[in-house]
Amino acid sequence: MTLLEVRDLEASYGASQALFGVSLDVREGEVVALMGRNGMGKTTTIKAILGLVKPQAGSVTVAGRSVIGMPTHRIARLGIGLVPEGRRCFPNLTVAENLVAAARSGHWTFERVVELFPRLGERREQFASTLSGGEQQMLAIGRALMTNPSLLVLDEATEGLAPVIRNDIWSAIRLLKQSGQSILAVDKTLSELLPVANRCVVLEKGVTVFAGTPADLTPDLQDRYLGV
Ligand code: ATP
Repeated sequence: MTLLEVRDLEASYGASQALFGVSLDVREGEVVALMGRNGMGKTTTIKAILGLVKPQAGSVTVAGRSVIGMPTHRIARLGIGLVPEGRRCFPNLTVAENLVAAARSGHWTFERVVELFPRLGERREQFASTLSGGEQQMLAIGRALMTNPSLLVLDEATEGLAPVIRNDIWSAIRLLKQSGQSILAVDKTLSELLPVANRCVVLEKGVTVFAGTPADLTPDLQDRYLGV
């Protein structure tokens, strides 16, 4: 089943157009890597899917329903769990409170999240504001999982984190994939992202210029689309 279908999506910030034709699909159980150099439109694509930026043309279908014009909370309820760039948790709530506040019934419970991220279990009574950056990122992922999303969307989930924590987060992402969780991920660490991805979509100047398997994304193509 196709969880997310984006076709010829266009979006602007005021008079400045950022997306000129983005198309991508995420099917059930797949990890899809959304790639491209800085400023090519990855975050804007995610925002437009969730209605945080208003699409001006094209279509976005979540679980078979068109979501264009729908408010963000309703799009999320159709099964999208977003971990936005720059992690957002409630600083004055404890780890446990942050997780429980996000809960919707399903496979993911507080117990399962702390099994995935034992550090969160150890710090369950700590205020979120006192966590390290990496622990806050784990909490942000945990919060998204607690909503039991059919599609987890990770925007730069490992950016700016200490190497040990990055490894923990990549391990968690691999476990999530093994468990069948569908994921749309933006991340600059290609050496981690490519092996975990079933498919890749590359954006250049707001347009999808490549969609295929990681094997199809040859070193030449990586150089052309992702090289600095
Ligand atoms: P990065 O890897 O740097 O996060 P990205 O691929 O996610 O890049 P976007 O953040 O989607 O790229 O940016 C796409 C284009 O839209 C860029 O030209 C950027 O300058 C512009 N843009 C992004 N956010 C805004 C905004 N709030 N207002 C105006 N322009 C914006």
